[in-house]
Amino acid sequence: MWPLFALVLGLLVGSFLNVVVHRLPRGESIVFPPSRCPHCGRRLGPMDLVPVLSYLALGGRCRYCHRPISPRYPLVEALTGGLFLLASLFYPPSLEALMVFAFLGLLVALAFIDLDTYELPDGLTYGLLFLGLFSALLLGFPLPFPQALDGALLAAGALGLIAGYGGLFLRRFREGRAEVPVGPHQVHMAALFGALLGPGVGMALAFLTWALSGRTGKAVVLPDRVTLPLLPLFLLLSPLLGGDFLEALKGALLAAGGLALAGGLYWALRPAPPETEEEPVAMGYGDVKLLGALGAWLGLYAFLGLFLGVFAGALLGLLLRQRKIPFGPYLALGGVVAFFFGETLWRAYMAWLGL
Ligand SMILES: [Zn+2]
Repeated sequence: MWPLFALVLGLLVGSFLNVVVHRLPRGESIVFPPSRCPHCGRRLGPMDLVPVLSYLALGGRCRYCHRPISPRYPLVEALTGGLFLLASLFYPPSLEALMVFAFLGLLVALAFIDLDTYELPDGLTYGLLFLGLFSALLLGFPLPFPQALDGALLAAGALGLIAGYGGLFLRRFREGRAEVPVGPHQVHMAALFGALLGPGVGMALAFLTWALSGRTGKAVVLPDRVTLPLLPLFLLLSPLLGGDFLEALKGALLAAGGLALAGGLYWALRPAPPETEEEPVAMGYGDVKLLGALGAWLGLYAFLGLFLGVFAGALLGLLLRQRKIPFGPYLALGGVVAFFFGETLWRAYMAWLGL
């Protein structure tokens, strides 16, 4: 009964996610008005909205104007139904299972919105992050809270730094424009000082420059050309200075992740600027926030999710010969696989290595 219930719930949630994917990027309400055919505008009745079945019964066409309906709709419904069914095989009926359903639903919405718009809405990435942290705090699920928090910061910090190095190479080592009051510059600085002095001090110093930038209206930051090349040097030298390489790396990633997620939240909550003002691309970092959110649910297995996502994205990018591909869907896919099968995959890999 439970798997059947999960499947039907997933189909219904998938139907709702179609609405979210369609309307959220447009800033429309997701509860009102009721669903309409995008071609003829006719309001759809209950018989038109049965997940998957309506689409099949109507032969993929609108009942009223007979124009084709995108197969995306039944696909999202079937996918969500399938994922909920999968989750029901791992988790018995419980609050934990509901949390996993929410995790999966948010990832489906994020993946398809990114496919459509090349954006990952902050409401959903931070929703996923905070739901993971709250679940860890209240239920100790899927991870104890300290591990969930560390996972989020480490994952976001790592991808934030990868983005930093990527940007520096792409700009051929020209300095990028520093954002006021907070941007990637603070993230890179936090990493540098986090490696040297521990995550707490690294974060504190970066928050200090954030505050100073906000106060003065000018970017008070160390240049990327200084912080990013020095970071690996500090990491490699840390054993010589009586430290420990892994500890220094952890300090760097935790501090960078803290700044990346806090900075992203600042830009997400900042009131929208007037339309005339030229909108700075505030941090970007959509994938960084998504991986941070996955870290709260997966801990260190988020890195396996990242690896799987890069692999799947590169493979499909080659197959489809597409130049610009959104990374969110692959990251979401990698995250789901790592969530259910991470431990199994890791054990198989270790066995393969003979460890
Ligand atoms: Zn129609």
